[in-house]
Amino acid sequence: MGARIIDGKGFASGVRGRVAEAVARLKAAHGITPGLAVVLVGEDPASQVYVRNKGVQTREAGMASFEHKLPAETPQAELLALIARLNADPAVHGILVQLPLPGHMDAEAVINAIDPRKDVDGFHVLNVGLLGTGQKAMVPCTPLGCLMLLRDALGDLAGLNAVVVGRSNIVGKPMAQLLLNESCTVTIAHSRTRDLAGLCRSADILVAAVGRPRMIRGDWVKPGATVIDVGINRIEEEGRTRLVGDVDFEGAAGVAGAITPVPGGVGPMTIACLLANTLTACCRANGWPEPE
Ligand code: NDP
Repeated sequence: MGARIIDGKGFASGVRGRVAEAVARLKAAHGITPGLAVVLVGEDPASQVYVRNKGVQTREAGMASFEHKLPAETPQAELLALIARLNADPAVHGILVQLPLPGHMDAEAVINAIDPRKDVDGFHVLNVGLLGTGQKAMVPCTPLGCLMLLRDALGDLAGLNAVVVGRSNIVGKPMAQLLLNESCTVTIAHSRTRDLAGLCRSADILVAAVGRPRMIRGDWVKPGATVIDVGINRIEEEGRTRLVGDVDFEGAAGVAGAITPVPGGVGPMTIACLLANTLTACCRANGWPEPE
């Protein structure tokens, strides 16, 4: 195994520590506590775990955490009314509606009802447009976390060939946009891409956001490339449940220059970036300089 293992867990802990320090400074200087509201509709077990972790880490950073749990059959109008209340609440600087929403809801309408200044997930169409035009946006947490790891691993990314496998609105597309904004030459691959293996072999930066366990093999990786594995897949193996990524870690680690593990890579960065975005939203709302 030749690759350097990128320690997302340790990096995320550093980000959370810096957020906590900035929160303490804001409290001392202005008496204001950044607040994050998380809305969960229904009882999806994975979503419940994510929401619980978000609440714990929000409080650990010294922020206020407001959790709203609604039954799965809640009418959409009721959810929109809650979002309107949170938009108007000055103690709430960030609003996150946990996805996926139950089938009777229109997720786009719900996300676009969030005040874009409080849209700490960065999914509101206004933030998507701001990011796409290189303006100051709320940036989706998972791709933002990946970018932080890449900058730390590689420094300047300009001119590098980046291949992003996956074109979802929450990971693949914003990831590609962020890399383009860093002056990478970006290709987005998806289920209809031809010769995916050959394309991946051209990548100096390979980001996998597919949702298919170990789909990206070691011999798809260019020697020395930096591999970012966003995938979180739960599989049964040797009689137990394991979390694995979209990349065949053992195979890729023998070829890559650096690689994120699963777990302990991108995953912890997502909540750390959520806290950082909430702090940013609080600073912007009050006209204060934004933290680094
Ligand atoms: P989606 O299912 O929304 O998107 C998956 C993408 O992968 C699609 O664009 C799809 O292409 C593409 N794809 C599927 N099969 C293939 C294939 N055989 N070859 C090439 N491309 C393929 O997933 P998400 O973007 O929401 O999530 C991706 C992964 O990241 C999941 O494992 C998820 O659990 C994980 N994740 C991790 C997070 C974290 O915090 N670390 C946060 C969010 C997600 P097409 O568009 O053509 O269908």
